[in-house]
Amino acid sequence: MEFFDSHCHPQFPHYDKDRDEVIKHALKESVFMICIGADLETSKKGIELAEKYEGVWATAGLHPTAIPQQKDFDSKTYEKLLNSEKVVGFGEIGLDYYRTEKIEDQEFQKQKFKKQLDLAVKIDKPLVIHCRDAHLNMIQLIRNYSLRGVIHSFTGTLEEAKKYLDLGFYLGFNGIITFAKQYDEIVKYAPLENILLETDAPYLTPLPFRGKRNEPAFVKYIAEKIAELKSLSYSQVAEKTSENTKKLFNL
Ligand SMILES: [Zn+2]
Repeated sequence: MEFFDSHCHPQFPHYDKDRDEVIKHALKESVFMICIGADLETSKKGIELAEKYEGVWATAGLHPTAIPQQKDFDSKTYEKLLNSEKVVGFGEIGLDYYRTEKIEDQEFQKQKFKKQLDLAVKIDKPLVIHCRDAHLNMIQLIRNYSLRGVIHSFTGTLEEAKKYLDLGFYLGFNGIITFAKQYDEIVKYAPLENILLETDAPYLTPLPFRGKRNEPAFVKYIAEKIAELKSLSYSQVAEKTSENTKKLFNL
């Protein structure tokens, strides 16, 4: 049985002391992974890991809350990174109104995101979308493009989930569903064909390890929870979500 952690950050400083052990441990447990970039530095570091290990891939992106520090979205530099061999997706990119309260700052995020979507059309790689408290704006924007991708760490409503599914997007679920009941209904509703497993490690550690640092190997607990909620077998969930990840990211 194999598993895919479609969204993790082993390149983050949280793993400076034991990065190789964490990755090797996951691979030994047949957990493959995509290292998601959140800015230029972490995108480059993720690509280095992907180049070092078989079964590890990377994305390049700029998290919406990292945009002010980087001042702008540098399309040229990102285009180069996105064309590297082991880069399989563009993200995380998106909108985060939870941590950006001022309307003018939200507008700025939207402008940058549009610039990113234009680049996405050009490079033709799937999107890894971060979206918090901004789903209506997100849906309005991506609807204008014909793009594919995943809404990572989905925490919207059932209505919003339906809209993304109608657009052909995947929903990424992580440790949140092991400790927050409000997403049960959405996990039950979403077809398994549209679900990706993720950890978002080092964050959002699933039960029974909540409070500890997260790691890609823990993706198995997400598979277990989805199997329980959808009354499916653990192996069905592992198999289908692995297939989904390979299909979306062309692995
Ligand atoms: Zn993330």
